[in-house]
Amino acid sequence: MKFELPPLPWAADALEPIISAKTIEFHYGKHHQAYVNNLNNLLPGSTFENAPLEQIVVEAEGGIYNNAAQVWNHTFYWNCLKPNGGGQPTGDLMDAIVRDFGSFEEFQKQFSQAAATLFGSGWAWLSADEDGKLIISQEPNAGNPMRKGLEPLLTCDVWEHAYYLDKQNRRPDYIADFWKIVDWEAVSERY
Ligand code: MN
Repeated sequence: MKFELPPLPWAADALEPIISAKTIEFHYGKHHQAYVNNLNNLLPGSTFENAPLEQIVVEAEGGIYNNAAQVWNHTFYWNCLKPNGGGQPTGDLMDAIVRDFGSFEEFQKQFSQAAATLFGSGWAWLSADEDGKLIISQEPNAGNPMRKGLEPLLTCDVWEHAYYLDKQNRRPDYIADFWKIVDWEAVSERY
């Protein structure tokens, strides 16, 4: 199976000035594309040659896992964001956030902390377990919560390539801006 780079849900400059078109050009056009290409190069002759992407993310190891998870994670990340996003979720997700974290502000603080303190490259996630309980986690490198049986709801890419062109070393500034472009409608629909 040949995987393809999925189209972005918005134009490359749509998230400016928070995420520049230049960052999207590299992050999507170069990094995300490279993970797709690497995966397609690794799959022929492997156990996962004809497997769907989610199965590869959950079951594979080594380079096939790393590249498959990075393909999945980036597609998911783009679909967590939109121009003029931000604000707060509504409905069942908001109820669950208040239930499990006390308030939206407390959730935001804990998620931001997870994203800021992840050492090196990786992802901060909000997921739900099989009972609907919300869980914030730090996943290094290509880490994905589906490997632990969790349902991903929201992610923030904290690899330096996600923010270095716009914010250089200031990861906390990138995280603070991230909240202004979260697509809470999309995130809420996943719960
Ligand atoms: Mn990335």
